[in-house]
Amino acid sequence: MIIVSDPTTAARQLADGHHFACPWDGCSGWLGPWGSAHTRPVGCYGGGVDVYTPKGARCRACERTQVLVPASTFPKRADSVETVLNAIAMATNGAGHRTIAARVGLPETTVRGWLRRARANAETIRANATIAMCALDRAADKIAPTGTQLGDMLEAVGRAAMAWNNQHPDQPEAIPRLELAALLTGGELLKRNPTRLIYWPPS
Ligand SMILES: [Zn+2]
Repeated sequence: MIIVSDPTTAARQLADGHHFACPWDGCSGWLGPWGSAHTRPVGCYGGGVDVYTPKGARCRACERTQVLVPASTFPKRADSVETVLNAIAMATNGAGHRTIAARVGLPETTVRGWLRRARANAETIRANATIAMCALDRAADKIAPTGTQLGDMLEAVGRAAMAWNNQHPDQPEAIPRLELAALLTGGELLKRNPTRLIYWPPS
């Protein structure tokens, strides 16, 4: 799985054949196009549903396959990054899963599941985001504690995203902050036992 900010650009870069390096340890191959995965619906924040068809990729050296996942979605989740991060932000402000579920118009069990997983992963994601922030901005101020684990995680991810945008002022369009958060956390925010290092650098 490779998280990309702009699927259209990523598909073109994939066709170039020298943009995406194989993510497998010890393989120095390049990825090329490899069909598409099934079209998927993704619930948008505030209502409505988008669909997208993830591009497939295959390493020309080891022949392992990958899927390019847009940064606006979480792998294998039916709702957008924007929805999930807004739900987490509401939780840091003291809202419970029932209140949040009513606000985002989704089942309580869905929101409870996100919050449980986000809390379990919060320290790993916070640590990874802090490393990314320091790598991008060696003079970065220390991140002040917010009082909650989820709040500390969101703060670190936000600061890493800010540092990345500050380092790339020439970007014609800054990557939306929430998508950048997904890029920086490698799509692992809601994954069981996140282990992967932050996807780096975002492209
Ligand atoms: Zn490979």
